[in-house]
Amino acid sequence: MSPRRWTAFLSGSALLLGTVATTAALPASAIPTESHCGTEASGSGNNGFVNHAQLTNTLQRIERSTGGVVEVDVAGFSNQGREIYTARVGEGDTVVFVESQIHGNENHGTEALLNLLQQWGGATPEAAALREEVTIVAIPRLNVDGGERDTRQNEMTWDDVVADFPQLAGVEPAWNYNSRVDGFDVNRDFNPDLDYIPQPEDFPGNSADTGWYITPEAQTVRDVYRGLEGEFGTVDYFVDLHNQWSCYATEDQKNMSPLSISAKFIDDPSEFGTWPKFDMEASKRANVAVYEALQGHGESGYGDLTLYPQSTNLPGTALGSFALRGSAVVLFETSSQTQYDGMKRNGMLRKQIEIGLGGLVDAVADGSIASVDPTVYDTIPQRVFLPAD
Ligand SMILES: [Zn+2]
Repeated sequence: MSPRRWTAFLSGSALLLGTVATTAALPASAIPTESHCGTEASGSGNNGFVNHAQLTNTLQRIERSTGGVVEVDVAGFSNQGREIYTARVGEGDTVVFVESQIHGNENHGTEALLNLLQQWGGATPEAAALREEVTIVAIPRLNVDGGERDTRQNEMTWDDVVADFPQLAGVEPAWNYNSRVDGFDVNRDFNPDLDYIPQPEDFPGNSADTGWYITPEAQTVRDVYRGLEGEFGTVDYFVDLHNQWSCYATEDQKNMSPLSISAKFIDDPSEFGTWPKFDMEASKRANVAVYEALQGHGESGYGDLTLYPQSTNLPGTALGSFALRGSAVVLFETSSQTQYDGMKRNGMLRKQIEIGLGGLVDAVADGSIASVDPTVYDTIPQRVFLPAD
C-alpha cells in the first residue's frame, strides 16, 4: 500500500478511543507480527456479519422463540431512518445496560449479544435464576447506518445537524465530524448532563471535553439511559462493546492479545461538575469479573486479555459520561475491525465476548461481584503495540 494509504490506515486504526498507541521496543524474540496480526486484506469486510434486515429478523425470532421473555422494542431511529433496537430480559433490581457497535465497523459485540440474549432468555433453570436478579437491556448495533455502510462514523452531514439545531448555523463543525465520509464519531457525542442543549460556544470542542447529543444515535442511548435511571435510580452497569486493531500483544509479548478491557475514561471527575456517584472501584470490580471469567480457559487464548491504555480521558464517550453519573463501566476492545481479519476469527472473537460479558452478568446475578477484589484490576497485563512493518 502507498505511504499515504498507510498513514490513513494507521490513523483509522490506532486511534480507536482517541489514544495514540505507544510503540514498544521489541526484543528479537517478539511474536512475528505480519503473519499473525490479521492486517492482511483477506478475510476483511462485513459480509460475515448480520446486516440490518438480518439483525431485525434475528431479534424478532429471539423474541418469538423465548415467548416474549426477551422483549424487543424500537428505541429510536438513526439519521437515515433505520430502527435502533433495545432487547430487554430479566426482572431483577440490578440493571446492566449493554451497547454494541457505536462504531459501525465493529461487529463482534453485536453477534455476541444475539447469542447471549437467546441464552439469557432461555428455558434453563440457570437463566430463570439469573432473570430474577438482574435486568439486562441491550442495544445490539447502535450505529445501524455505519454498520450498513461499514464505516466507524454514522451517516450524517453537518447541514443535517444545523437543520436540527438552528442555533449552530455558522459555527465550526464539531471536531468529531468526518467530512470525507459525512459522518460523526458518535462515541464523542455524549455529555454527563442528560439535559444538555447544544450551545454555539461549545463548538468545535475537543476530545478532552464533553459532547452534545447532536446525533440521533447518541440521543437514543441517552433516552434509554434516562428511562433506566428513572426506573432503577442508578444504571448499575454500563458495558460498551468495541473492536480495536489486531496487532496487540500481552505485556510479556509471548502471545497476541485478542481483547483489551478498561474501567478508566475520566482523569478528574470534578473537572466536569459534581458527580457524587462516580465510582471507580465499582468499575474496577466489574472489569475484574470479566477478566476472571476469561481466565481458566487454558490454551484457548481467551486468557490473554490486556488492559486498554489507562491514560484515557474521554468525557464525551458514553463510557465517560455514564461513569460520571454513577454507572460501573466496562469497555471491551475485541481484536479486529472489519477492515482487518475480524471476520476470519469471527467465531472465536464472539465467543470471547460471550464468556467475558456472560461472566460479568453471572457475577452480578449471584452477588459474587461484591467480593471481587478491585486491586486485581491493576495487575491485568498492559496491552503492547506491535508495529506491522
Ligand atoms: Zn470503537
